[in-house]
Formats: sequence, structure tokens, C-alpha cells
Amino acid sequence: MARPIWYVNLLKKAFPNIKFIAKLTRIPFLGKIFDLAMFEGDDIIYLPQDKVIPVNKEVQKEADMVLPSQVIEYFIEKANYHWIMNFCICRDSMQCKDYPINLGCMFLGEAVLGINPQLGRRISKKEALEHLERCREAGLVHMVGRNKLDASWLGVKPGNKLLSICNCCPCCCLWRIAPVINPKIGQKIKKMPGVNVKVTEKCIGCGTCTRGICFVDAIKLVNKRAVISKECRGCGRCVDVCPQKAIELTIDDKLFIKKSIKRIESLVDVT
Ligand code: SF4
Ligand code: SF4
Ligand code: SF4
Repeated sequence: MARPIWYVNLLKKAFPNIKFIAKLTRIPFLGKIFDLAMFEGDDIIYLPQDKVIPVNKEVQKEADMVLPSQVIEYFIEKANYHWIMNFCICRDSMQCKDYPINLGCMFLGEAVLGINPQLGRRISKKEALEHLERCREAGLVHMVGRNKLDASWLGVKPGNKLLSICNCCPCCCLWRIAPVINPKIGQKIKKMPGVNVKVTEKCIGCGTCTRGICFVDAIKLVNKRAVISKECRGCGRCVDVCPQKAIELTIDDKLFIKKSIKRIESLVDVT
């Protein structure tokens, strides 16, 4: 059943404490319950920001699509139902000062018909593509995939008819819980296939990339040099902020777009 506005307002009030709630999932019994209730069957892919992609020549030559956001464009073209929120619930509840509150999640698939119309509106394919472009220009990072949590807070069914496209900043709920949540749940939020991020010799240890940039705390200073851990999800934000251009993001899988689409299509039907 579509969620009433009072329910959404209540949820917004709980958001600033979401890290505390996420930590509870490390208690085995509670972790299982949270997983079943909110993350069962999920697969969410972080897309590197298009602007940081120096796709290597081989990939560029052989792939018919080369920018990560083309995964989302594919689903927008394919979908019969498109929906955007009037606002970003995460930025709104955190009173975000850095990114626009009016650019929120996009949802695709038949389940959007069940969303409370006071929360957003159905849009055309053209409007969906324009929304995507505005989010990119604002510096937001896309996440795409099946997210049971979305179907649950929106009160819509079936979950396999709802594709979530998030346009996120550090206020994002998933972003904020990622470093503390039970790792088994955290692993459902993945890197795009073939994405590699590395710090090069140009690093001077200024620390810019370590200050509230990485949503999974995967980048730290060690012996005055940035070091990236295996927790990295390849979003590219650290690449973007480094003043020395010392961090490189590459994609070495020629099929990275096709593989991402296939994974999502196996879980969500947007037609
Ligand atoms: S998931 Fe991203 S776009 Fe959606 S409400 Fe949260 S920050 Fe905003
Ligand atoms: S911002 Fe760049 S130069 Fe500064 S620590 Fe990070 S990688 Fe090194
Ligand atoms: S280290 Fe963090 S900010 Fe950098 S690409 Fe990986 S996930 Fe993104």
C-alpha cells in the first residue's frame, strides 16, 4: 500500500540516526532480520562518474557503449513506467547544503504506479533523461539496481518491477551506512565490473581525498600517501577531487556495460 505522507515524515526524522541502526546489523540475529526485511535479493551497482572515465583505447574501440551512465539510459529507454521524486529524502532529512534537494531518486517499472502521488510524479522518457543529466551536472553519483528497502519504504509491489536509480551525495542513506553495516549486507552494493582505482606516484599526501569524500571510507593516508582498500566501490569521487590528478580510474572489462545490464535484468523487469 502506498505510504502516507506522515509515514515518510516519520522516516525522515529517523534518518539522522541511520548509522546507529545500521550498526545493529552486526549483531548476527538482528543482521539476519534486517537482511531479510530490507536487502533480500538486492544487487546495487555504483556507477563511476562519467567525467572521470578515461576509457582505455581498447575498450573504446571495441565496446559499442562506453560511459557508465549508459546503463541507466538503456533502462530508461526500455521502461514503460518512469517516476521521479519531488525531492531527495536523504538530502532533505540531512538538510544538505552541498547538493540540490530537489533532485531525488528515479524509479522505473510497473511498481511505480503504487507510489503515493504526493511524493513525486510519472514522467516521460525524455524527462527521465533530462533528470539524469541534471544529476550528473550537479556532481551526484548514480547507483542502480534492485533495492528491497525502496519497495518497502514506498510501500509498493512487486519488488521485481521496481528499479531504483539513486543520484547520491554523502547524505545518501546507503552511503552513510556502508562503512558500518554488516559486511554481508554491504557486499550487495557493488563496484561496476572491471573498474579499478589506484593511487599513482603523483600523490603528495595532501589528504584532500580522505576528508568526507569516500562513502565507504576506502581511502586513507598511510605514510603520507593515499592508499585505497578493497572496500572501494569505484564511484570516482576521489579521482575528481584530487588536485594532483594522482588517482586513476580505469575499466579493463570490455563488456562492463553489457554485464551490468545483464545483472540488473536478471532481477528487475522494467517493462
Ligand atoms: S538514495 Fe540518493 S537520490 Fe535517493 S533519496 Fe537517498 S541520496 Fe537522494
Ligand atoms: S588528494 Fe591526491 S595528492 Fe592528495 S592525498 Fe589524495 S591522492 Fe594524494
Ligand atoms: S576510494 Fe572511495 S571515493 Fe574513491 S573511487 Fe573508491 S569508493 Fe569512490
